[in-house]
Amino acid sequence: MLTTGPKIAYFSMEIGIDSEIPTYAGGLGALAGDFIRSAADMRVPMLGVTLAHRRGYFFQQIDATGWQKEDPVHWIVEDYMTDTGVRATVTIEGREVHLRAWKYEVSGNSGFVVPVYFLDTDLPENSEWDRTLTHYLYGGDVHYRLCQEVILGIGGVRILRALGCHNLHRFHMNEGHASLLTLELLQEHLQKDNRSFMDMEPEDKEVVRRQCVFTTHTPVPAGHDQFPLDLIDRVLGDRKACGIHDPICHEDRLNMTFLALSLSHYINGVAKKHGEVSRLMFSSYDIDSITNGVHAETWVAEPFAQLFDRHIPGWRQDNFSLRYALSIPGAEIWKAHQHSKNAIIEYANSEENAGFDKDVLTIGFARRFATYKRADLIFEDLERLREIARDVGKFQIMFAGKAHPQDQDGKLLIQRVFEIGKALGDDIPIVYLPHYNSDLARMMAAGVDIWLNTPQPPLEASGTSGMKAALNGVPSLSILDGWWIEGCIEGVTGWSIRVDGEAPQEASDRGKDADALYTKLEQIILPLFYENRNGLIEIMRHAIALNGSFFNTQRMMQQYVLKAYFP
Ligand SMILES: *Cc1c(COP(=O)(O)O)cnc(C)c1O
Repeated sequence: MLTTGPKIAYFSMEIGIDSEIPTYAGGLGALAGDFIRSAADMRVPMLGVTLAHRRGYFFQQIDATGWQKEDPVHWIVEDYMTDTGVRATVTIEGREVHLRAWKYEVSGNSGFVVPVYFLDTDLPENSEWDRTLTHYLYGGDVHYRLCQEVILGIGGVRILRALGCHNLHRFHMNEGHASLLTLELLQEHLQKDNRSFMDMEPEDKEVVRRQCVFTTHTPVPAGHDQFPLDLIDRVLGDRKACGIHDPICHEDRLNMTFLALSLSHYINGVAKKHGEVSRLMFSSYDIDSITNGVHAETWVAEPFAQLFDRHIPGWRQDNFSLRYALSIPGAEIWKAHQHSKNAIIEYANSEENAGFDKDVLTIGFARRFATYKRADLIFEDLERLREIARDVGKFQIMFAGKAHPQDQDGKLLIQRVFEIGKALGDDIPIVYLPHYNSDLARMMAAGVDIWLNTPQPPLEASGTSGMKAALNGVPSLSILDGWWIEGCIEGVTGWSIRVDGEAPQEASDRGKDADALYTKLEQIILPLFYENRNGLIEIMRHAIALNGSFFNTQRMMQQYVLKAYFP
């Protein structure tokens, strides 16, 4: 760590580094951005590699029926990044495809810089089709996706070499999209003494394994890319000649997860439970876990940042010190929260005519609209929900999040939230806020009273938006899955959604989950909000002190450094 220059190359298909740079789709990209920000704060010699995604993820439009439409985003790369002038090529379907690297510099809170390289094929020397290869994040078909992965994995390593990075100590694959980098490293290693993949020995793989780190992020099968072998042959050329061998191919497919697993010396899931689930899924590999976090300074909204600056100076450099939030006077916590709450309610009222009331309990739900996240679980029994609002206390619910353009079920889910919102009318005010991005994520997570998460266990690998809420004193009400199994101390840091006395479910029962959610709302949360403010403030304080101080990328980076980078 003492010699100069980057030592860790962190590869991710999406990196959310700035809310105006639309190169992320959800939690994976948000995490990558936060991780890099912490590397810069902590002076970890890292660099990032991703694609430029010149047309972004997408610009979300919701029509009058609640149906999502996607428009390309037009953003000007030059406004945010500088051209390194460095070029490299990859071979795709026998054609040379030229790449350039844009550089974005992330400065840490002590001025240390971590560069992030955004790869771009939109160059005049490429064919029209090749120029579009770095346009759309998760756009197009499997063929387009494979070409993008060639650019990220193989092109990424070549660009780094062209930039003069020859002493990299670790290559960290943030999800399997970058797995092809392992083959490029093998190729480089063999080429040193003029050998080819045909002469490969087991020790050669060891040389690459020592350099590689792989983080798997989801137990959802669609999250593990697989490509038909004939497509591989077509795009990469003869697969044997590029090192693709049997153990990583399953049923005539190249599985990018297996490729990364077989060529990494350190593998981890993103929460303790997810580590367990991953060990069951990939039983022949040694899989550890490092629980995700969020970048504290990025996600603490202004009112709490000022409060922490006064009571816990140094919290930005030392996130553990947020533990001392326990001694911040309750009245100040409440006041800071009201500032954040006013901001999001004014936004929802002025942008979407939500008609929300600042004195009413406000529940927030925002994340990708993937069906396993079950945004509509709270609407399972509308009569019961109405009854609770009428008999126990009023509440209003705020939703946001994009569905993947090809995910019809996800779009139907948005539409359902939209329609139910209309049907509930004034009984339970509902608003769906379009254009979910990191700015809106911060405003919502900080400004609502309760952060709701209702995934179908065990599919939520970690989840991070509840950590953003916790840093702002907003407790979670969540299914016990992902990070919440670790973060939930019942009635102290928030609440679990489960039948009292039952262990966290393995398989989910929608009806039971909804019932448990209603019971918590009815018996605990509404009475606390309307009748026991000091009790609520106590929980808000513990959300910051116990969860904010731990579920951050500073702690997470320390664990990667100790276990994966410089053990
Ligand atoms: C934090 C964040 C997420 C992750 O949300 P989860 O609840 O963990 O799924 C997704 N999208 C954006 C824009 C975020 O900032």
